Amino acid sequence: MKDLPARRLLLVHAHPDDESINNGATMALYADAGAHVTLVTCTLGEEGEVIPDGLAHLAPDRENRLGPHRVGELAAAMKELGVTDHRFLGGQGRFRDSGMMGLEQNHREGAFWSADVDEAAGYLVEVIRSVRPQVLVTYDPDGGYGHPDHIQAHRVAMRAAELAADSGFRQDLGAPHRIAKIYWNRVARSAAEEGFARLRAAGAGFPGIAEIGDVPGVVDDSDITAEIDGTAYADRKAAAMRAHATQIAVDGPFFALSNDMGQPLFTTEYYQLVAGESGAAPGEREDDLFAGVSE
Ligand SMILES: [Zn+2]
Repeated sequence: MKDLPARRLLLVHAHPDDESINNGATMALYADAGAHVTLVTCTLGEEGEVIPDGLAHLAPDRENRLGPHRVGELAAAMKELGVTDHRFLGGQGRFRDSGMMGLEQNHREGAFWSADVDEAAGYLVEVIRSVRPQVLVTYDPDGGYGHPDHIQAHRVAMRAAELAADSGFRQDLGAPHRIAKIYWNRVARSAAEEGFARLRAAGAGFPGIAEIGDVPGVVDDSDITAEIDGTAYADRKAAAMRAHATQIAVDGPFFALSNDMGQPLFTTEYYQLVAGESGAAPGEREDDLFAGVSE
């Protein structure tokens, strides 16, 4: 463990593409700064809708080969962000995309939504005890917008953080480790409003425009405790998002998912600290997720 870089950041996401949309700039920034950035993705995103007509044959109701294809998209995205440590929870294909809430896929064999939280968390404990991150980033309890795999990723990440620190839990998975700071992904309401105003003014080339309610994790500005200015990494974030071509269409500073509704691409990324001490002065936002971390 002496060989580990000084700063270690772990991000837990549900599907390939979530990491680039939520944290692309943050990941590129810390990777560039020499921090160890570890991404754990919980499913292959097998149930996603496919945007390009030429790849529609991969869809779950046709050839059902979207999962392996998205493994490749994720690898390409990580190359753009300079992140070399990216893994799938329990290994590639251990947990399957559960589809949107209420679908029969929620309860299919291997569906992440139906997984036992403690069992799934065990896989993450192994990663935590080996990488020993000071900072964990994941979703809020609603998964940002209610997708079952996002809610489950939240539960598994939070439970794993607890179990990793518990010296009585699975000593075979490594020495206990307490994560100093845990953040949830957020978007500041003012930034979302400003972004949509910009989008409406620019009239980007998408059939429609989404609404603020469609953006996961939007909260009042007062709930934001950390803000990472990723302006210098805007191009790399956009490139990482483009690498997820089955899921995302990027047009300049805007993008759309499979619903063809344009939304702003945020290069400043927002977080809410939910465990650990803020490194900022009282009432101020942190500009570094590692602020105040001593080890
Ligand atoms: Zn997702």
